Amino acid sequence: MNTRKTPVNVFDLVVFGGTGDLARRKILPAMFKRFCAGEMPDGSRLIGVARRAMPAEAYRDMVRAALDEFLKTPIDPEAVEHFLQRIEYVQLDAQGEDGWQSLAEMMLPDRMRAFYFSVGPSLFSDLAARLRLWGLADENSRIVVEKPFGHDLETAKALNAELATHFKECQIYRIDHYLGKETVQNLMAVRFGNMLFEPLWNSQYIDHIQITVAETVGVGGRGAYYQKAGAMRDMMQNHMMQLLCLIAMEPPAKFDPEAVRDEKLKVIRALDPVEPHHIIRGQYTSGEDVASFREDVADARSKTESFIALKCHLSNWRWAGTPFYLRTGKRLKTRSSQITVVFKDAPHSIFGPASGRHNNELTIQLQPDEGIILDVTIKEPGAGGMKLIDVPLDMSFAEALGPKADAADAYERLIMDVIRGNQTLFMRNDEVEAAWAWTDPVIKGWELRGDVPKPYDSFANGPDDSSQLLRRDKREWRGIKR
Ligand code: NAD
Repeated sequence: MNTRKTPVNVFDLVVFGGTGDLARRKILPAMFKRFCAGEMPDGSRLIGVARRAMPAEAYRDMVRAALDEFLKTPIDPEAVEHFLQRIEYVQLDAQGEDGWQSLAEMMLPDRMRAFYFSVGPSLFSDLAARLRLWGLADENSRIVVEKPFGHDLETAKALNAELATHFKECQIYRIDHYLGKETVQNLMAVRFGNMLFEPLWNSQYIDHIQITVAETVGVGGRGAYYQKAGAMRDMMQNHMMQLLCLIAMEPPAKFDPEAVRDEKLKVIRALDPVEPHHIIRGQYTSGEDVASFREDVADARSKTESFIALKCHLSNWRWAGTPFYLRTGKRLKTRSSQITVVFKDAPHSIFGPASGRHNNELTIQLQPDEGIILDVTIKEPGAGGMKLIDVPLDMSFAEALGPKADAADAYERLIMDVIRGNQTLFMRNDEVEAAWAWTDPVIKGWELRGDVPKPYDSFANGPDDSSQLLRRDKREWRGIKR
């Protein structure tokens, strides 16, 4: 197996929001793992920045505790101590001038600087402006912008315009951690690296495609944010849309950032407006030991959705006539993210009606385990005659690749892509705006009609209407029950 490593030059990663939840759960553990993999060359540093006043040593203690809490694998205490020597801390106010001088004095001239905006979205513009004002960013610097990127098309455009006054597009990395998942990239490898699938990858052979992102958790402590966002803004406009792009896009001429992002953009632009009766919204109700969505967001009359399912179409030659069903929600039965490509039945069954209906399905599983499964039809073993059954050809990465399979978390891969200057897996300004341009009228539609989401039981499959959406088309959801 080829385990090629691209060399990394010395860098500083400045994490604004370095004491926050995302930094502790994802960014710090990811950087520790890349440090252990030898991808933090001598002299490279991680500089945590936050509002809280504390000495660097206290921040290092916090980093140590975060690694203990959030790294799933056993950690080498000696490696942790070496990693901590690379950690610095600066107290700073993103909205004022306090602390910026200290950060400026810490900057060294001989290295690439990446600034990770792991703070609330209201601070993105302030940070970009002050990085320029204080002369912290040069032509080679990069900024990483977390989600949510805007609340609608207007705010996304305004944020793009604001960032563009301080940074070139090639310096802006809009992160969507779904794109960093091994399987998502494997989706491109499977589609474009094999002869087997691409000739069949169109409406002539594919009956429909489903994308499910199901969570068991509720909105938790994010009630105030979620009440304003809902599943459409929080998941559909970004993660689900990105998955749809990768599954539906034309082969790019090259695997390079502009070529890949050009093709993804064409997919979003080919999306038809969604018919109102093709959208199902839901809110979870209270269950054993869990509060209802309305209690979680502290609004007894909330019209925000914690679940959405919709059917959409792409108006282009490849996909005309193939529906795409997308669904995502909280407090569902299982935590599961998968894409299922359902191929059409064989045009004629030589085995007669008794053999039943069989078709191939390709399942791309993103969570909880990553892997790709191809269901093929074979003869049921035994002497009972020609009975057919579907069996999975399981390309579960853990089995196929052994210990290397779980090598990197999405954040590890994406942060290293920032450091190497590879934007392929990051969203471009026009992609984000096109996604909002499709999302906005859908949201405005239900706001104008005053639609209220349907209640659904916690830890079940979402509202019944979501099953009906497919049953009307003589189809069934895959994913949550598996
Ligand atoms: P958090 O509230 O836990 O942390 C916020 C951080 O920002 C803290 O370190 C705080 O000190 C710092 N901060 C706040 N105001 C500041 C100011 N004026 N000046 C300087 N620093 C300031 O938030 P989080 O959950 O870590 O999320 C950070 C960003 O990442 C958000 O945009 C969020 O939407 C996004 N995000 C988070 C998650 C997650 O799992 N937590 C997942 C995806 C995206």
